[in-house]
Amino acid sequence: MHDDNAPLRTLVTGGAGFLGSHLCELLLSEGCDVLCVDDFSTGARRNVAHLLGHPRLTLVTHDVTHDITRHVTHDVTRDLATPLGAHVDRIYNLACPASPVHYQRDPVQTTRTCVLGALNMLALAQREGARILQASTSEIYGDPQVHPQRESYWGNVNPVGVRSCYDEGKRCAESLFFDYHRQHGVQVRVARIFNTYGPRMHPQDGRVVSNFIVQALRAEPLTVYGDGLQTRSFCFVDDMVAGLHRFMEAEAGGAGPVNIGNPQEFTVRDLARLVIELTGSSSKLVFAPLPSDDPTQRRPDVRLAEQMFGWEPRVGLVEGLQKTIAHLDALLSAPASRE
Ligand code: NAD
Ligand code: UDP
Repeated sequence: MHDDNAPLRTLVTGGAGFLGSHLCELLLSEGCDVLCVDDFSTGARRNVAHLLGHPRLTLVTHDVTHDITRHVTHDVTRDLATPLGAHVDRIYNLACPASPVHYQRDPVQTTRTCVLGALNMLALAQREGARILQASTSEIYGDPQVHPQRESYWGNVNPVGVRSCYDEGKRCAESLFFDYHRQHGVQVRVARIFNTYGPRMHPQDGRVVSNFIVQALRAEPLTVYGDGLQTRSFCFVDDMVAGLHRFMEAEAGGAGPVNIGNPQEFTVRDLARLVIELTGSSSKLVFAPLPSDDPTQRRPDVRLAEQMFGWEPRVGLVEGLQKTIAHLDALLSAPASRE
């Protein structure tokens, strides 16, 4: 049981990734003790380097497909080999490659991470009496035939396609979360995250925002897949992690699932033009084949998040892109990156 005066001890899996590193930062600023767990498969030490001296942060190298309470993990902050020691009050389960290029590189490991990672963290939550939030995804809806997407929509996923390791892995994780809730009374939160962008996106993760910005900064053609008329709705990372935190701490409203994203919808061509304009680049567009099962449209209905925990996005695409461009520009200009 948590002592109300003690800081919440919070475990973040995937904490050295793009979203995870921003979440760790927010949690530290909220006074939590943070245990950041990552296998660094797509995350990077540089994402959390500025937090390493923080007295309330512990960084542990661990693959969530193994039970963290049994396997010896490597504690980077203290340079010790240590299994998970103290009690945990909250678990944010973010560990999973998120970009299609990353999650399709080793699809079996992607499914293992989604399913075994969820099972291991849910078992830990049950043992600890901790509340646990799952970073689920708009990919649950597949190529949606209902637009915008509400949480009540069951989706349209190809179960055997190249994206299924991620889509079905995340769907299975949602199912496990709700079964742990019903069967074992674990307090769960399932957040369906829509396309999120911002500083610390991996410059080579193949996602549209990072690809376009890197290409524009290098004056290379922007690679538009298909006719570029497919849509996405882009949420800035600060809004996203604030939403995840509010959902976790909301006492009323229950488990979800709840969409978190920015409902402003853009075609991929719109995004390309905006990135060229904001970078002042001389880049042109080049068209390449559409990857298989690429969703044609995506926009969240976020009314439930607003009703349940008073959240709505604040940062528009222009402002968010300006911050992301500044970050990637600095990263690409750094000597290590040029090498
Ligand atoms: P990311 O790739 O930057 O972060 C994922 C992190 O998980 C990385 O640090 C990686 O090293 C770590 N990881 C992967 N497999 C692991 C394993 N087996 N054990 C331990 N750590 C492991 O991606 P992100 O954009 O920060 O996404 C974070 C979470 O949010 C993911 O679960 C993703 O599915 C979800 N999500 C993100 C978006 C988005 O647009 N960014 C959209 C929907 C859902
Ligand atoms: N996309 C594109 N060019 C790129 C990368 C992506 O046109 O260089 C398209 C992709 O086909 C998809 C959209 O942009 O329609 C968003 O892709 P991303 O990989 O960022 O995310 P997801 O498909 O998972 O929403």
